[in-house]
Amino acid sequence: MVAMEPTLQQVNHGMTDTGVKRCARCVMPENYPGIAFDAEGVCNFCRYFETHWGSWVASEKEKARSEAKLRGIFDAAKQKGKPYDALIGISGGKDSSYCLYLCRKVYGLKVLTFTMHNGFLPDAAKHRIQKLVEAFDVPHFYHRDPLVLELARVFMRKTGNFCAPCELATFNLSAIIAREYDIPLIVLGSSSRTDGSPPKVLNPWDPAYFAKVLKDEPYQERLRCSLFARNYLVRAGLARVFGRRRIVILPDYVEWDEEKIAELFEQDFGIQFDEEHSDCIASGVADYLYRRKCKGSGRKVMKYSVLIRGGKMSREEALERLGENDGDSPTLNLDRFIELMGMTRDEFNEASERSPGSYMRGLPRFYNALRRRVRRQV
Ligand SMILES: [Zn+2]
Repeated sequence: MVAMEPTLQQVNHGMTDTGVKRCARCVMPENYPGIAFDAEGVCNFCRYFETHWGSWVASEKEKARSEAKLRGIFDAAKQKGKPYDALIGISGGKDSSYCLYLCRKVYGLKVLTFTMHNGFLPDAAKHRIQKLVEAFDVPHFYHRDPLVLELARVFMRKTGNFCAPCELATFNLSAIIAREYDIPLIVLGSSSRTDGSPPKVLNPWDPAYFAKVLKDEPYQERLRCSLFARNYLVRAGLARVFGRRRIVILPDYVEWDEEKIAELFEQDFGIQFDEEHSDCIASGVADYLYRRKCKGSGRKVMKYSVLIRGGKMSREEALERLGENDGDSPTLNLDRFIELMGMTRDEFNEASERSPGSYMRGLPRFYNALRRRVRRQV
């Protein structure tokens, strides 16, 4: 075969040498769940981003306005004079650490911190948490409920994805602690502007989906007595829609440059973050499962696409990095994960073919509407 220069048509439409058509602006491929390209070859994720974040990214004025708004929210919380102004769940990862830094050092809030120990927390993350708690002088506690890991096994077996119990537990736990300690604000470090989340059809975690998966499982009594007993997601979403703000998605208001964040922590606090999602030993396995179902597209594609949209990476660099083929390398911690799941390798392989789809029928519109409102996300 004769190697041919790509035609102008192919270049315009983001065709690459691997033959995968990608968005002309980011690097999302055509086989990604829920993707659509317009006449200019730009994907719906990019268009949505443009509508919701385009002017923020481009305008210093708008950034200053949103930062002023954030100060207003924090000042109002301080004026309430409660023992704590804000609650932050710290995972030992970059984003939650930066939330803690901003809230304590920049905005001077009184902060309570907690960590959801899902059974997958690496030792390195625990050491970072210890350092953070000391450096920022904040009270902190761990919550470790074996139920979360038990449910992760059920979800892995039935849906080929195991993140839902931890996602929902972490969210509910923050709602419960905030209420128990009468804390006006819950501060989160994950925003649709800065985070490439997996396709929601592969990682749903809303309470209706959660209940459907567990419907025929012998967990009902335990769930009633657990932190899964109430629908905090809907409460928080509705509160937000009606203007009663409790959740603050911090990257929505201020610059969030991961390289600078890493530098700051290394220089000022001697804390290093080894890699993306270094706060969960199962994150590599989760990514492997996404890649299997998205024909090779995993977190890297999503992350780079978000960085491109935010002006933090060029499309050329992203394509180059995607070309460095480490996607098929043996999955990090796979043996340990399989052991924790109490599965054999064959059972894992069989489960990894499944997907959440069959448990999602008929419900997600309401949750998606809330999600759009709260997270400004497709
Ligand atoms: Zn795109």
